[in-house]
Parts: sequence; C-alpha cells; structure tokens
Amino acid sequence: MYEDIFKDYVCVPGKRFAYNSTTETITYVPKELSHSKGAMALLHEIAHAKLGHKKYRYDLELLKMEQDAWDQAKKDAKNYKILINEEHIEECLHTYRKWVAKRATCPKCETFGLQQNNTLFKCINCEAEWKVNQRKDRRVMRRLISS
Ligand SMILES: [Zn+2]
Ligand SMILES: [Zn+2]
Repeated sequence: MYEDIFKDYVCVPGKRFAYNSTTETITYVPKELSHSKGAMALLHEIAHAKLGHKKYRYDLELLKMEQDAWDQAKKDAKNYKILINEEHIEECLHTYRKWVAKRATCPKCETFGLQQNNTLFKCINCEAEWKVNQRKDRRVMRRLISS
C-alpha cells in the first residue's frame, strides 16, 4: 500500500512525521509505518500536501488545516486500505486545541487574548501583551511584554 503513496509524493525518511510546504516534501518515520498510528500520520501529512497547505499566520488557521487534513486522511485511508482509529484523531485534534487555547490565554488575568501575529497576543481584558514560542511540538511558553 505504501508503494502507491511513495510513487505519488516526495517522501523522505526522518525523525518525525511532517510536511514541508516550501519543498513539498513529506518526512516519515520508517519504523513507525508498521503501526496504525504511523500509517495514519503518513496519511495526515499527505493530506496536507494534497490540500496544498502552506504556512499559516494565525493559530486558528492551523487548527482548521489540521481538521481538514484529518478529514482528507480519513477519505484516503479507504483507498490505501489503511485502518483509521477515530479516537487517535480526536486525541491529536484535542492536543492542538489545548495548545491553541494555552497560547491565547493571558498570563496575567487568564482571559482569552487576540492573536496579533504568529507569536504575539494581546489580552482583550487587561491589554497585556505576550509572546509565545514557535514550536508546535514543545511546551507552550508565554512571555509578557512590559508596556
Ligand atoms: Zn498536521
Ligand atoms: Zn489579561
């Protein structure tokens, strides 16, 4: 089943599953492909490629892309005869939602803030501003900016 995928997309082995929209390359972890989670991760990255996902500016765009990629992956799973574990998808999306919520929460008063650019937020309640770290796979760090 993977032969078909590897024929249609540029896939290179690596340390984690990812899609690079600049080079249109999918990175996958070879030894994880024998597990259903690994197979699903590959389908998910392929969905990003298929849907032409590019870099995002706001967290909510990312969340939408993640949702869309999983919807596409579910459709593709049938063609490639890969079993889909809905629970795993929900877990992945839940992790993203938590990540997005954490970044948007004001470190001062715990109200939601508005995202100003990819790393800057502003509180709608107390007007505090904070910066967040970039990495999606790291713990969320919020740093208040003194005004
Ligand atoms: Zn994704
Ligand atoms: Zn606040």
